Amino acid sequence: MYRSILPHTLPKDYFRIIRMFSTKALSAARAVSPHAHATSTTQCLRMFSTSNIVNQKVGFVGLGNMGRHMANNLIKAGHEVTVYDINTTAAASLAEKGAKVANSPGEVASQVETVITMVPNSSHVIDVYEGEGGIIDSAKPGLQCIDASTIDPAASRQVHASATKKGLTFVDAPVSGGVGGAENGTLTFMVGGDDESFAKAKEVLTDMGKNIVHCGGVGTGEVAKICNNMCMGISMAGVAESFNLGAKLGIDKKVLADIINSSTGRCWSSDTYNPVPGVMEGVPASRDYEGGFGTALMLKDLGLATQAATANQAAIPLGNAAQAVYSTMTAHGYGKKDFSSVYAHLKGDRAE
Ligand code: NAD
Repeated sequence: MYRSILPHTLPKDYFRIIRMFSTKALSAARAVSPHAHATSTTQCLRMFSTSNIVNQKVGFVGLGNMGRHMANNLIKAGHEVTVYDINTTAAASLAEKGAKVANSPGEVASQVETVITMVPNSSHVIDVYEGEGGIIDSAKPGLQCIDASTIDPAASRQVHASATKKGLTFVDAPVSGGVGGAENGTLTFMVGGDDESFAKAKEVLTDMGKNIVHCGGVGTGEVAKICNNMCMGISMAGVAESFNLGAKLGIDKKVLADIINSSTGRCWSSDTYNPVPGVMEGVPASRDYEGGFGTALMLKDLGLATQAATANQAAIPLGNAAQAVYSTMTAHGYGKKDFSSVYAHLKGDRAE
């Protein structure tokens, strides 16, 4: 019966039908399930339908450039979504798409099975979870907490400890893929947590991302994220320096790009996200460094890397140098420009 109805219906109707017939679907799914141990509604419905989607009550806190798209994808996937942001306009625009709006992170937590947070930095995350009216105070035991913000791994571990005391689960799940990936539901999630928490988190993360990677225990998602971004920040500055030197020495930028991209200097910053205007189409360098990953966000991530390196006595001389470069750029008005504008900065251009 479901197989004949579902392919011809819209996703919203799909879930209405699943809910309407959930009891029958559950028994039918159990009857056809080859896995006798599949006992939950979720497991059975998943096997019964052709989709990977689990319909649940999900809360979302932090509806900025990334969060608003991620929350919207959860709505589109059929979840019942409750949102909160200190910016009421951001929450109102999600309400237009079908979300319920709560008045605090705690109010969100009290109404849902899973809460996802996507706020700027460590202090915001600690405030949202541990502050007055926060998630931990108001949550019922068993709430699944997923923090997708990019923050200090030590802060993730702190919040995990507080959540665990209250009987909640917590994983850190920072993302890569940028605003485009958030909008298209193709983000990569780097998840830190135990095996069971990871498996549970993956069910809902799949509705916002394409690659869901288990990095290890709590905090290791953040470790992966800040190490990757330090590498990217250093390599972008290196590629920009090389192309700036090449230009001063009189070589054509496209010739130099062809050589580097087929030689040992090749990397993502040179062959996929080249910082020199006119070398590639469709990258921030081809649109005056608008859109993309802001220099201020890169500076934030390098700050996290420096903080973690200092606390753990890891030598990161190139990370420190890159941090100084992006810090100078931010002070000179490049904060909102894509970080590949390091090329323009080295060339001596002023930010507009
Ligand atoms: P953003 O500044 O656009 O959005 C953050 C949102 O959080 C804002 O709407 C803000 O009002 C809200 N907020 C702040 N404090 C809050 C609080 N106490 N309670 C509720 N809401 C609160 O940031 P973004 O670009 O969406 O990034 C979010 C996180 O994702 C950051 O940690 C960032 O480093 C990371 N990230 C961003 C990108 C990107 O390309 N923008 C890519 C990967 C990771």
